[in-house]
Amino acid sequence: TIGLVAVDKNGDVAAGTSTNGAKFKIPGRIGDSPIPGSGAYADNAVGGAAATGDGDVMLRFLPSFLAVEEMRRGASPNKAARTAIQRIVSHYPSFSGAVIALTKDGEYGAACHGIQTFPYVVQDNTRETSEVITINC
Ligand code: ASP
Repeated sequence: TIGLVAVDKNGDVAAGTSTNGAKFKIPGRIGDSPIPGSGAYADNAVGGAAATGDGDVMLRFLPSFLAVEEMRRGASPNKAARTAIQRIVSHYPSFSGAVIALTKDGEYGAACHGIQTFPYVVQDNTRETSEVITINC
């Protein structure tokens, strides 16, 4: 899955996913990616989030929605993403996946579980080219 979250110069927030689906695209499987709040979620008042990983587990927890709601309550993007991941892990300890989060002010973060590292790309007006940030899970 490619997940993205963006804020434009007008302050409009967008989030989206593009995926071939897990497990070789089983016919009829929907997965998490197209489910608002699971694969991605955005709110102009707060920011946005997107998720990747085991979609059949993730879509039961709406991790992107949860991350945005945590940021609404004042959590940093890192903390919000961590909370969303932890919610899943508390029910499914062997879950693997990641959440990225971005505030409307351009603060960003991510959290992951069940893999060694998770790389994500950031582009903003503090840098000339995009930067790959890799976090430990
Ligand atoms: N979440 C996707 C799915 O389960 C897979 C992925 O993130 O790569 O369809």
